[in-house]
Amino acid sequence: MTNGLLSAIEIVKRYSTGTASTTALAGVTLDVEKGEFLCITGPSGSGKSTLLSILGLLEKHDEGRYEVAGIDISGASRDALARTRNKHFGFIFQAFNLLPEMSALQNVAMPLKFRGGIPNEACLSAAKASLEDVGLGDKLLSLPSQLSGGQQQRVAIARALVGKPDVLLADEPTGNLDSASADAIMELMRELHSRGTTTILVTHDRRMAQLASRVVTLVDGKLL
Ligand code: ADP
Repeated sequence: MTNGLLSAIEIVKRYSTGTASTTALAGVTLDVEKGEFLCITGPSGSGKSTLLSILGLLEKHDEGRYEVAGIDISGASRDALARTRNKHFGFIFQAFNLLPEMSALQNVAMPLKFRGGIPNEACLSAAKASLEDVGLGDKLLSLPSQLSGGQQQRVAIARALVGKPDVLLADEPTGNLDSASADAIMELMRELHSRGTTTILVTHDRRMAQLASRVVTLVDGKLL
C-alpha cells in the first residue's frame, strides 16, 4: 500500500470486439495524492478515457492492482464498486450527460438520491447549495435545453460535487464549449481545486493542462 489517495499498479485493460482485441492500457502505474490537480494528456486513442474510467470505477481493469483510499477494489462486487464510486468520485464529461427531462435541481440531486437513506428535502437543499456554488442559483428549475453549453457544464459540475466526493474526474470538459465558456469552466475548476478538490483532468487542451500541478502523458496505453 502507498500513501496515495488512488494507487494504480501495472493496470492492463483490453477490449475485445469480435475476433479483434485492443490493449487500451498496457501496464499503467500511477499514484494520485489528496489535493493534486493531475492532468492526463496524450494523442487520441492512447487510453486516456479508459484510464479515467478505471480510476473512477466506471470500468474494471483486467490485470494489475487498484486501491482507492487504501482499499484494493480488484475483487469488489458491482454493488460495492457502485457505492465506492458514488462516495469517492464525481464525474464531468464533454457531453455534459444531464437528464433532459429533469430540471437542473433534479439533475444535481440525483447522486444523493442514488446514495439512498437521505430525505428528499435534504437532497434538494444540498443540490440548491451546489448550484449556487457554481453560480446557477437563478437556474434551479431550468431544463438542460433551456441552458447554454457552459451553464449545462456548470450543472454537471454541481452534480459531480453535490455528494462531496474526494475526487473530481473530468473528461475533456471544455471540448463542446466555445472559448469564452471554456475559459469560465477552466476558471471554475481552478477555483474548486484551490478550495481543496482533488482533480483529475483528461484533455488535449494545452491551456487547460496549465492548470494542473502535474501532467502525465499516455502513448499507446503506456505512461511516458
Ligand atoms: P483516448 O481517450 O486517449 O482517446 P480511449 O481510452 O478512448 O483513448 O481508447 C483507447 C483504445 O481503446 C482505443 O484504441 C479505443 O478504440 C479502444 N476502446 C476504448 N473503449 C472501447 C470499447 N468500449 N470497446 C472497444 N474498444 C475500445
